[in-house]
Amino acid sequence: MNKKSVRDVALSGKRVLMRADFNVPLQDGTISDDTRIRAALPTIEYILEHGASLVLMSHLGRPKGQVKPELSLKPVAARLSELLGRAVQMAPDCVGPEVKAMAESLRPGEVLLLENTRFHAEEKKNDPEFARQLAELGDLFVNDAFGTAHRAHASTEGVTHYLPSVAGFLIEKEIAFLGRATGDPERPYLVLLGGSKISGKIAVINNLLGKADKLLIGGGMANTFFKAQGLPVGDSLVEDDALPLANDLLAKAGDKLVLPVDVVIADAFAPDAATQTVPVDQVPDGWRILDIGPQTVAHYRELLSQAKTVVWNGPMGVFEMPAFAKGTFAIAQVLAELDAVTIIGGGDSASAVKLAGVTDKVSHVSTGGGASLEFLEGKTLPGIAALDDKE
Ligand code: ADP
Ligand code: MG
Repeated sequence: MNKKSVRDVALSGKRVLMRADFNVPLQDGTISDDTRIRAALPTIEYILEHGASLVLMSHLGRPKGQVKPELSLKPVAARLSELLGRAVQMAPDCVGPEVKAMAESLRPGEVLLLENTRFHAEEKKNDPEFARQLAELGDLFVNDAFGTAHRAHASTEGVTHYLPSVAGFLIEKEIAFLGRATGDPERPYLVLLGGSKISGKIAVINNLLGKADKLLIGGGMANTFFKAQGLPVGDSLVEDDALPLANDLLAKAGDKLVLPVDVVIADAFAPDAATQTVPVDQVPDGWRILDIGPQTVAHYRELLSQAKTVVWNGPMGVFEMPAFAKGTFAIAQVLAELDAVTIIGGGDSASAVKLAGVTDKVSHVSTGGGASLEFLEGKTLPGIAALDDKE
């Protein structure tokens, strides 16, 4: 996937319309985590330093096409201004004559933040007229919102029909790493898959099974494979509907598919439940599997030590509870120490890697939950597909 980025276009004297992901968590009107704003800074600073003015847009929360003052982007303008060390003007809306006049009066180096695009129902409908009005605010479109790239909305896809369109640094990096994982990875290429359910990940399994050398399974999704193999699973989370699929995959994948050999079980789904570690064929009635065991970690570590590319999606256990987080954190540590390209996709997996303290020691943590999953499924993301190709 060879898409143009901000590096490939002339910026001096231009007015850049940039879609960012400023969908930050708010508590009583204050931003509780500004990671997403900080993540957008490299692209923003690059554009401003190259002599352009900047019109920024984003959605925030789910206002459902109505103006919801509590979902205004005003707090983002204030935070962004602090981080950039320059003024950030706040527009009263994202379209309309007043906003247009504000955009047109911008001088190089000046920044305007548009109000929440989802205050208009036309945003999610990808309404062409609404997209055209947004596009009028810039000479050039930069998309840096990977988290919404899997949605064809007016501010992600619609505007590209009216403006030259390129990727910001965040999307450029996502394309580079996820593109490698789904394209032509250096081998051995191992994929770690976990999380609660098989059903949401069927397309990922099918796509990556064709590309990876091995698929190492953990998390709740392993349980359905265990049951399909006739092993006792007690009260573990199992998707009975997915049993035929699990059987198919076991047959199709052969020894490409690697399952846990031991598991941590509990007598309740609770942080203070009684626990024990048992081989996978010895889960008693009334108990449930909530993590992979130490022998599984050792086995996976050995397999991973040979890898040149690793993709990880889905925690190995219920990492939100310390009693069942050991497997996930141990695997995170293994990845941190590998001499390989290591790519983490999925919202909960990204949190787990952060909690394990190894975010900076893996090659890439994807910023988009749903978007990274769709990428790993081999789907084309409309917000990326619509960007201009490199000549
Ligand atoms: P991601 O967001 O990275 O794609 P998922 O949403 O698929 O990951 O899965 C994350 C969830 O899976 C976590 O909330 C975790 O508690 C849950 N999970 C992992 N292992 C188990 C298990 N053995 N039983 C029940 N839930 C599990
Ligand atoms: Mg999730």
